[in-house]
Amino acid sequence: MKKIVLLAVISLFFSCNSSAQKKETKEKEVFTITKSEAEWKAQLTEEQYHVLREAGTERPFSSPLNKNDKKGVYHCAACDTPLFKSEHKFDSGTGWPSFDRVIEGNVAFGTDTKIGYTRDEEHCATCGGHLGHVFNDGPRETTGKRHCINGDALKFVPTEG
Ligand SMILES: [Zn+2]
Repeated sequence: MKKIVLLAVISLFFSCNSSAQKKETKEKEVFTITKSEAEWKAQLTEEQYHVLREAGTERPFSSPLNKNDKKGVYHCAACDTPLFKSEHKFDSGTGWPSFDRVIEGNVAFGTDTKIGYTRDEEHCATCGGHLGHVFNDGPRETTGKRHCINGDALKFVPTEG
């Protein structure tokens, strides 16, 4: 009898331990650019900090970049990594800048379960700043993806000439 209890305790210990390890691995995502929260706060505007560092969402139709149709590249507002190209931007009608694809390798994906269901969170692969989410209701004629991005997380760099 004692043996069975001991075995149950051991297996409980192992299952807790393995899930704790899993969590640790996820938190260990390493970014090229890391700064303290105080440093980010000093560098970013209040709105940028809320989106990029607290995974916030700006009000729809609030970003001037939502209607921006100029040619150029959208960079990370925190670390200047190029993330999206203007030729992949489309008007989704949602009120947030939307793209059908990312600049490969510069955007990383996580999972955001904060609002109760799983969505695909995306963040800057260089600094870890939160950008927005990706959905499967994008333009069918291209990728079918809708990268719904907060304008506050972006800095638009127009193409010269
Ligand atoms: Zn960044």
